[in-house]
Amino acid sequence: MKPPPFLHAAPETLPGALELLAEHGDAARILAGGQSLMPLLVMRMARPALLLDINRCAGLSGITRHDGETRIGAMTRQIAVQRAPETPALLARALGWAGPRAVRNRGTLGGSMAHADPSAEAPAAALCLDAVMVLESRRGQRLVPAAEFFLDALVTAIAPDEMLLEIRIPPGHPRHAFAETGVRQADLAMAAIATDLALDRQGRISAIRIAAIGAANRPVRLPLAEQALLGQSPTPATLRDAARAGLAGAEPPSDLIASAAHRVAVLEGLLADAVLEACAA
Ligand SMILES: Cc1cc2nc3c(=O)[nH]c(=O)nc-3n(C[C@H](O)[C@H](O)[C@H](O)COP(=O)(O)OP(=O)(O)OC[C@H]3O[C@@H](n4cnc5c(N)ncnc54)[C@H](O)[C@@H]3O)c2cc1C
Repeated sequence: MKPPPFLHAAPETLPGALELLAEHGDAARILAGGQSLMPLLVMRMARPALLLDINRCAGLSGITRHDGETRIGAMTRQIAVQRAPETPALLARALGWAGPRAVRNRGTLGGSMAHADPSAEAPAAALCLDAVMVLESRRGQRLVPAAEFFLDALVTAIAPDEMLLEIRIPPGHPRHAFAETGVRQADLAMAAIATDLALDRQGRISAIRIAAIGAANRPVRLPLAEQALLGQSPTPATLRDAARAGLAGAEPPSDLIASAAHRVAVLEGLLADAVLEACAA
């Protein structure tokens, strides 16, 4: 199918793009790497009056470090994020699962966050790492923690006149792991666990963050599993109890790929695998 008719604008500056967003609001749709938006257009599931192509806008891509914080421009291609030495290892690891390489060559980190597919790997890593989304509009700039950014499947805190400008990631813990299960390796995740943690001298977990894909209709942290593992050694019993506690109230989707009960069972196993792997790293 062909996309429905739309106006196309490709401003070369951020103020120019924000001006158009302020003018068109809901009727405009930002085009970044196009890897999710173009299929939506040709299937006519998206019908924007204006396609706002930000590929020519200067200053929206690149990776820098500020006092240990990593700042990644929204238009940075996923493959560049994955390969950059500045990228937090957990995010690079998660992106290794994010679809075929040809898609990562064009797809942007900001596009993955803004699209907010509940199966996407980068949003789960961002949530685990307490990333902060920098949103910009003509009204000004606001910082939204990842925990308040992913609201529902394909729904984020980005307002119609706002653009995701940058993803900021504070320094993380020294150990990490990302464990995923899908129908095939390059497919979207059926379930996945991202974790980063620290161990004390006795080998007990002194800090831990865990995020899950497949436990809800958006990426979620598992605070009860985190609490259950804090101060513990990663034994089969503590891992099993933590996974059960963390997923007790979960409401995973049931779909053609897996039932909710199957997703919970898979997540319990992935959680134990990921924490063990991170502890052994
Ligand atoms: C075959 C295939 C397999 C895939 N497999 C995976 C996978 O396994 N895991 C995975 O995570 N993803 C997967 N994807 C999706 C891919 O990662 C997309 O690149 C990503 O979801 C969107 O990034 P994009 O830059 O292409 O954004 P686009 O497609 O251009 O935009 C996506 C949405 O985000 C909005 N948007 C984009 N940038 C901004 C911004 N800066 N500010 C505000 N809104 C913005 C757009 O308006 C649009 O609504 C796959 C895609 C394909 C085609």
